[in-house]
Amino acid sequence: PYEVLVVGGGPAGASAAIYAARKGIRTGVVAERFGGQVMDTVGIENFISVPYTEGPKLVANLEQHVKDYDVDIVTEQMAASLKQGEYIEIGLESGATLKTRSVILATGARWKEMQVPGELEYRGKGVAYCPHCDGPLFKGKKVAVIGGGNSGIEAAIDLAGIVESVTVLEFGDTLKADQVLQTKARSLKNVEIITNAMTTEVRGDGQKAVGLTYTDRTSGESKQLDAAGIFVQIGLVPNTEWLKNSDVELSRFGEIEIDNRGATNLPGVFAAGDATTVPYKQIIIAMGAGSTAALSAFDHLIRTPSP
Ligand code: FAD
Repeated sequence: PYEVLVVGGGPAGASAAIYAARKGIRTGVVAERFGGQVMDTVGIENFISVPYTEGPKLVANLEQHVKDYDVDIVTEQMAASLKQGEYIEIGLESGATLKTRSVILATGARWKEMQVPGELEYRGKGVAYCPHCDGPLFKGKKVAVIGGGNSGIEAAIDLAGIVESVTVLEFGDTLKADQVLQTKARSLKNVEIITNAMTTEVRGDGQKAVGLTYTDRTSGESKQLDAAGIFVQIGLVPNTEWLKNSDVELSRFGEIEIDNRGATNLPGVFAAGDATTVPYKQIIIAMGAGSTAALSAFDHLIRTPSP
């Protein structure tokens, strides 16, 4: 059995694995794909102390750093269940079971996609999911935000200070965001809000996005909007479906509930990164959370007798 088993190989998982291995304890990582969301990222400008890097390059560095330590890395394996007995048992989709004295859940999250033509083609070329990450790339340009919930309206307010103008497209007939956010957004001269708008296509010139097409759901008319950036803010979904039949406590959004030490409700079960209730989902935050969870797991191990 492992002493620490990390589930997930994104920034949170990599950081947890390094911190655990540095304690000289038997550490493993099981992940579907090393690197997580960072693998899908082009430019990264907010990984502090590295002014500019790119997703695949950061992932290669992360993987190399983990491999500098004695860590068992198992990729292309999906965790499917968590059970607590004498050891914690992580069941894999392949049918195998990994036993461990403590586990760090770092399975991350995924942005909900609009699933319209052009979205994937222009992802990273105008279609963006993270205003904190990509907002500055659209300085002085026109952008659209898809989604009028809290994250969409927060994104609009955030972007309004950087870009020329922001148009928010909301599918429903009213915004879902908190009233204070709506009031703030409506007070900004360069923010326009369109409700009853169903985005149907991202338009591009072959190199980058140039705008989108939407249907006005009241008139049925198809309309075009020019935008260099299209921020899709229709939800971030934690990869925690596999925990629904376990005793790990999840929030109503499916995020793993953790305390400020990265502990879940179950002894020996810790969690970190975008899969958890941590506020703000960013690489540097996930790495910090991964190290917190690993140090907490170590604390747990030295206080708990080995079975
Ligand atoms: P993830 O990176 O999501 O990693 C999750 C890991 O778990 C992966 O290894 C995955 O394969 C694995 N996994 C999932 N389910 C299972 C399972 N059941 N069993 C086994 N393994 C599983 N942040 C920034 O700070 N700066 C940026 O510029 C930036 N740009 C971004 C651009 C894009 C397009 C996206 C999508 C995100 C961006 N982010 C950025 C956010 C950042 O990528 C995330 O906050 C960060 O990757 C979260 O790390 P994580 O380790 O918690 O999860």
